[in-house]
Amino acid sequence: MKNNIAFKPLTLPNGVELKNRIMMAPMTTCSGFYEGSVTHDLIEYYQARAGEIGTIIVECGFVDNKGLAFPGAIGLDNDEKIEGLAKIAQVIKEKGSKAVIQVYHGGRMVEPKLIGGQSPVGPSAIAAPRPNAPTPIELTPEEVDAMLDKFGQAVRRAIQAGFDGVEIHGANTYLIQQFYSPNSNQRTDKWGGSRDNRARFPLAVLDITHDMVKKYANQDFIVGYRFSPEELEVPGIRFDDSMYLLEKLAEKGLDYVHFSMGAILRPSIVDTQDPTPLINKYVAMRSDKLAKIPVVGVGNVINQSDIDAAIDNGYDLVAVGRACIAYPDWINRIEKDEKLELVINSDQREALKIPEPLWHFSLVESLIRDVNLNVKKFKPGSYQEKVNDESYEFLINVELGKDFIKDMQLVNAKEFDYEVLDNFSVIKNRIIDSNSPHVDAVSGATTQCEAFKKAVTKAMAKSNKAAILAEGGDPNDKSYDIVVVGSGGAGLAAAIKAHDLGANVIIVEKMSVIGGNTNKASAGMNAAETKFQKLKGIVDSKALFYKETMTGGKNKNNPELLHYFVENAPDAINWLDDNGIELSGLTTTGGMSVDRTHRPASGAAVGGFLISGLVKNINKRGIEVMLDTSVTEIVTENNKVVGVKVSEEDGSIQIIKAKAVIIATGGFSANKEMVEKYRPDLKGFVTTNHKGATGSGILILEKLGAGTVDMSEIQIHPTVEQTTSYLISESIRGGGAILITQNGKRFVNELDTRDKVSADIIKLPEHYAYILFDQQVRDENKAVEEYLSHDLVIQANTINELAQKLAINSAELIKTIERYNQFVIKKQDDDFGRTTGMRHPINKGPFYAIKIAPGIHHTMGGITINTQTQVLDTHKNIIQGVFAAGEVVGGVHGANRIGGNAVADIIIFGIQAGKQATDYING
Ligand code: ADP
Repeated sequence: MKNNIAFKPLTLPNGVELKNRIMMAPMTTCSGFYEGSVTHDLIEYYQARAGEIGTIIVECGFVDNKGLAFPGAIGLDNDEKIEGLAKIAQVIKEKGSKAVIQVYHGGRMVEPKLIGGQSPVGPSAIAAPRPNAPTPIELTPEEVDAMLDKFGQAVRRAIQAGFDGVEIHGANTYLIQQFYSPNSNQRTDKWGGSRDNRARFPLAVLDITHDMVKKYANQDFIVGYRFSPEELEVPGIRFDDSMYLLEKLAEKGLDYVHFSMGAILRPSIVDTQDPTPLINKYVAMRSDKLAKIPVVGVGNVINQSDIDAAIDNGYDLVAVGRACIAYPDWINRIEKDEKLELVINSDQREALKIPEPLWHFSLVESLIRDVNLNVKKFKPGSYQEKVNDESYEFLINVELGKDFIKDMQLVNAKEFDYEVLDNFSVIKNRIIDSNSPHVDAVSGATTQCEAFKKAVTKAMAKSNKAAILAEGGDPNDKSYDIVVVGSGGAGLAAAIKAHDLGANVIIVEKMSVIGGNTNKASAGMNAAETKFQKLKGIVDSKALFYKETMTGGKNKNNPELLHYFVENAPDAINWLDDNGIELSGLTTTGGMSVDRTHRPASGAAVGGFLISGLVKNINKRGIEVMLDTSVTEIVTENNKVVGVKVSEEDGSIQIIKAKAVIIATGGFSANKEMVEKYRPDLKGFVTTNHKGATGSGILILEKLGAGTVDMSEIQIHPTVEQTTSYLISESIRGGGAILITQNGKRFVNELDTRDKVSADIIKLPEHYAYILFDQQVRDENKAVEEYLSHDLVIQANTINELAQKLAINSAELIKTIERYNQFVIKKQDDDFGRTTGMRHPINKGPFYAIKIAPGIHHTMGGITINTQTQVLDTHKNIIQGVFAAGEVVGGVHGANRIGGNAVADIIIFGIQAGKQATDYING
């Protein structure tokens, strides 16, 4: 590791040598004294993190007491602060790291309550585009000059406090950025208007910084500049604007420039069609002059591979944020080749020297894993379990303490290669750290990890029973307030909400993994009028969301449920956010005219992200989850719910007592008989769904008299890659792809309705087809990159070669494509009457094919409920004590579900079910 470039020294333009290329990123700690002085906790916090790391960039200090952008900010605003700041600089330098401090003013981002109820100031009297943002007072020209002086004085104080450098904070929409932004700066004097005028303020801050350095410091004082590369607002700073400013700053001289981003390889947030990381653009666009100035990357750097990615993509320095909070000795661990996970055990605050306010700051709070909360009692001892994945049998010893998971050993380790052992060790660490078997699997080794986890759940169940027996109790006598059936998004949300409202909850899941079909959700979560939309300046309305969903559902949607759905969607987005699940990225799906599909900022699929976040919340609260246990019946006495009957993996039957039941068992796409019963025409279709989507909740509730609605409304998708259930988007056909049989022939108008195309594929003797396209389609459809990265695509340089790879008669395939190309040219498909998506002839290699077949995708129909998620019987009467949410319910989506509405459905109604069931038991 020591050979890695990141651990080699780097000389800055001013001649100062940094001993390595790793920096601790500036992070808000909120741990200053109320008026901005340094606290003892802060000194300890920085001291603990200094040492091996090359440079520590201390959090930003405000230059003026009207400039603090968050509570507990530290100040550089008067000379009395120097003494405390000097202590921070000293402890960092003593341990051998360079100490740099950020200087900033929050400008219009300052909340009045932080500055004694006064109005904040800004370049113009324009409020920030966020809810309840105050309108700032425009700085007069004299005040602008005075402000520059304040920046200068702050730099002087940093110098006098003994810091090795300052970082000018031109990012995060604070004052310096506000001056450069055409959105916040609409002045008509020399500080506003043209781009050059707007650049004047940041440049003047740099000038005054240089003046101060000349006057008070040595020439080896470091001056860095941090910038946010883009703004979403219209108008707003675009990437080429940032490049323009950086070039100007570079001409004046800088020691480094620092991207402010959440991920080192983040692409544009404005041009979301372009996946190129901004750093790649930066490297390509910068002048020789700018290229001489080291560039710092930041964002989610946790392991060596992240450092490598940063350096490989052109960063000279890498700033590490949260990982330095979780691991004060982060750099030593990386040097020892440790693989780290971004979590902090709940009992570690003092040992890690994390100040209390920082501990409660959302950024850190979301990393905390509770190690003490698990309520289960175990009979201490070692339990041996046999578990399998598709290829191997694992013999695992699970050692349990009284209320914690102590250790795990792979007894037959000798039989396995390094990779399996490595996976085992990762999962073992995750399980022990979080004191729960419900942890994320290692990507690419899901089933293997599920087997390891299962050994632990089995051992826990056994030992829990033993503990109860030892205390003279009856292990089968389980009693809760609420049983939640199903651990998909709806069930988890319901359980968390009910727990938070004080109910004693258990989740029962029939599969051996948590997450259900929600794990597979891709697009995101639809919601209109959310804070994330507002932040991005997206104008949307609940009414439009309602209308478009209703149209998409062919007006078959239940109006009351749909109203509740659109009304409560923004709160559901906030609820997730409050629980550390931030869906701040936005996109759109078919049938929606506005960007209202919320997804992780990284653009990752929503399902895994959501489940992993919800499970962290389940673990944190110690909510019990019984896996491999099916609920078979709701038990009632005198028409009152008293519990559920469950059947465990070993065949044993027991009753779990409860006062209320929430059914969140998902849809029935994977139940062939049920699908065929309601839609005989779908016989033989495969499904994109997980195995557990069997509709058992519907059957259980029907037995209790529940009504159903829209049962024959089943959504199918014609182009599904069958081994992974990956949907191959309609946009590929829309972009010019065709469908080909194993005989090399076309057989359908590829862009006919989903059900028609699906039916024609099923009619083929082989029941599958190939979707075939060329480089031109790939160029225009980013989704293809995803398919390629998942190894779904067969590619070849010529049609002939592709035919061979697909075992298709090559002459036949060439003939088909030539014929189709003629149709494209004359804009008329003589064979199948295709009229759309005939963009260009398929003639530009490489050529690509994906084997596909239709898949049953979603069951819109299900149980009837009211807006309080109470299950209704066939006469629309309420069945007391029984609630249902998620895909098991019918009515929300009508005849067709819009992409992004399923996730919204499960969270909105999941939360509601948790609340209503709790209200019910509290009577
Ligand atoms: P939703 O999207 O509505 O939350 P999911 O399909 O994601 O639905 O999750 C439903 C979960 O319920 C799945 O994990 C499934 O295995 C589980 N499940 C279905 N039927 C039963 C049952 N009878 N007992 C326990 N769990 C069940």
